[in-house]
Amino acid sequence: MKSKKPTKNEKNINSQRLKVAIFDLTDCEGCELVLINLREKLALLNEQTDIANWRFAFDNHNLGPFDVSFIEGSPTAEKDIEITKQARAVSKYVVTLGSCAELGGIQATLNNNEWEEGIKEVYGNSYKTKNKAPKPVSYYIDVDYHLPGCPINQNELAQLITSIISEKKPTEYRSPVCLECKARENTCLFLEGEPCLGPITKGGCEAVCPSRGLRCWGCFGPLSGGNHKALKRNFEKQFGKDKTKELLKTFFSQTNEFKELYPKEK
Ligand code: SF4
Ligand code: SF4
Ligand code: SF4
Repeated sequence: MKSKKPTKNEKNINSQRLKVAIFDLTDCEGCELVLINLREKLALLNEQTDIANWRFAFDNHNLGPFDVSFIEGSPTAEKDIEITKQARAVSKYVVTLGSCAELGGIQATLNNNEWEEGIKEVYGNSYKTKNKAPKPVSYYIDVDYHLPGCPINQNELAQLITSIISEKKPTEYRSPVCLECKARENTCLFLEGEPCLGPITKGGCEAVCPSRGLRCWGCFGPLSGGNHKALKRNFEKQFGKDKTKELLKTFFSQTNEFKELYPKEK
């Protein structure tokens, strides 16, 4: 069968197609599912991007160069660290997908000693591993943009890809989860005695948890300029010191905000 000649518009789009790679490290692959759902919904994304390397979804494993590399997961295994550095070397933009890549994820709450103890407990004393305690991707390389969340928000992902395609700087969400929560007229869980981290957590998730009666755990990361000290004081009075630290540690353990609140924590 004869193939149809491309129109002038199709030729333009093809010449501008973004060459994209998606790498996954140590994680649950939930953020990649958000990307798959987005591709199913957005014809524009399919027309304007060329997925050159995506282990999770395709057989093509091009080695670059790429316009954009998305990295999901926290570098933990030696191979993860190698992939992370290689992605930076061959990409114009590096974008982290989700809290594992941006913040180290829940697995990063373990410090180096706890990590080694944990490995022994799970695999036994004789098991040797070269895996390192999980860290954010930015511990190893410079990152251009972060898409926060566990998992990421589909609308934020679509906006970021559109910004990169149109060569505009993506806008970062600068308000707390509380703003989106109040806009939805939710009953405030904090006022009902729940330790909700919404006041000091970066918004952009459309307040999905409090809108369903669940408190915010802070998966979008600490809000820059948030009054973390005041929230800590308030939480300690209501829920005790240990519980407060545990709550703040879940997603913030590798952040400057957490290290300022707990300077002795290694
Ligand atoms: S951020 Fe959450 S959803 Fe995304 S890969 Fe990590 S654990 Fe999975
Ligand atoms: S429920 Fe949580 S996110 Fe919503 S307004 Fe109260 S503290 Fe903020
Ligand atoms: S409400 Fe909090 S925990 Fe839930 S998705 Fe938003 S930032 Fe994450």
